[in-house]
Amino acid sequence: MPDARLVDSKATFASLSHILDARILRALADMGFARPTLVQSKAIPLALENRDILARARTGSGKTAAYCIPVVQKVLNAKMSIAEDDDKRQATRVLILVPTRELAEQVSAHLRSLLAYCGEEVIVANVTSGTTAHLQKTALSDNPDIVIATPSRALGLLQSKNLTLALVESLVIDEADLILSYGHDEDIRQIFSGGYLPKMFQSFLMSATMTEDVEVLKGLALRSPAILKLEEDED
Ligand code: ADP
Ligand code: MG
Repeated sequence: MPDARLVDSKATFASLSHILDARILRALADMGFARPTLVQSKAIPLALENRDILARARTGSGKTAAYCIPVVQKVLNAKMSIAEDDDKRQATRVLILVPTRELAEQVSAHLRSLLAYCGEEVIVANVTSGTTAHLQKTALSDNPDIVIATPSRALGLLQSKNLTLALVESLVIDEADLILSYGHDEDIRQIFSGGYLPKMFQSFLMSATMTEDVEVLKGLALRSPAILKLEEDED
């Protein structure tokens, strides 16, 4: 559970029912998420207006759900507006970049919980976890809606054309302060400059601290972002 001081005591997830699918609200209730944290209550409505998001909030403030909830909602929205038999219905719409396999596992588990009531509607593929090239290829062959990868893995799969981002609507960089220090710098640059991404998509940059690295990523990834800085809520 997040620190009580990080929770938005004026809001509940139920009060977001005008923008969040009932299946997500039900899953959140099962997960014991009653009130959003401050970063969640700021990020979710802005993200659903398609704003780019730069969120700096300390560890434990709930940044995972702050981007997972809106991207899942956006996938559901997209599917609602596309006919069952349209080829574009099943496509990778979200790429989540993380610095480590461990974090990829956590994000993947969080998404599975959020999607508990969505059946097969939204497919998630974590392509980091020690899987072979063959398994990754199989995981990607049905164009999962949401792909979780380290930057090097994502770039390799883009270069081998096993991953396509032509229909991506959201790109998330989690633990942005760590991701460059893990040596992912060049890979991220190539993901952005290699012609893999469509003209328009939304970016999220999630970070516990504002480092020079995060400033570099901000220049690379964000267009007039909503900047959510929550350090004023700390001690
Ligand atoms: P961060 O990425 O900011 O470090 P996490 O997203 O990992 O934080 O969340 C920290 C913990 O708080 C996790 O165990 C998560 O399940 C829990 N949590 C996040 N948001 C809520 C919420 N609104 N209500 C209850 N628990 C929450
Ligand atoms: Mg985190």
